[in-house]
Amino acid sequence: MPSYPFYIEVEYLKNPIDVKWFITSRCNLRCKFCYLEDYVGHDLSFDEVSNILKIIKEKEIVQVSLLGGEPAESKYFDCILNKLEKSKIYYSFSTDGQNFLRERKRQIF
Ligand code: SF4
Repeated sequence: MPSYPFYIEVEYLKNPIDVKWFITSRCNLRCKFCYLEDYVGHDLSFDEVSNILKIIKEKEIVQVSLLGGEPAESKYFDCILNKLEKSKIYYSFSTDGQNFLRERKRQIF
C-alpha cells in the first residue's frame, strides 16, 4: 500500500477521441420542438470540409458523430462518409430518415 501523500501520474490525451461535427443547419423538416432558428444556414465550402477532414485524420480522432440540422442535407454528406470510411474512422449520424432513406433505399436494402 502506498503511503500518503502519493501522486498518481495521469497521461492526458493530446486530442479528443470523439468529435461532434454539425455539418449543416439545413433541414427538410420543421419540427415544432426544433432548436434551429434558421433552416437554411451556412454550408461549409469544399475546402472547409476538406480541412476539417484533414484535421480529424491528423489528430487521430477515433469516432465522428455527424449532426445538423439534417446531416444528409449537406451536399458533402456522401463525400464525408467516404473519406471517414477510407480513413477507417468510426462515424455515426442522426437523421430524420426522409430523404436519406428515399435516396439510398437501393444501397441499404
Ligand atoms: S429533424 Fe431535427 S433538425 Fe430537422 S426540424 Fe426536426 S428537430 Fe430540427
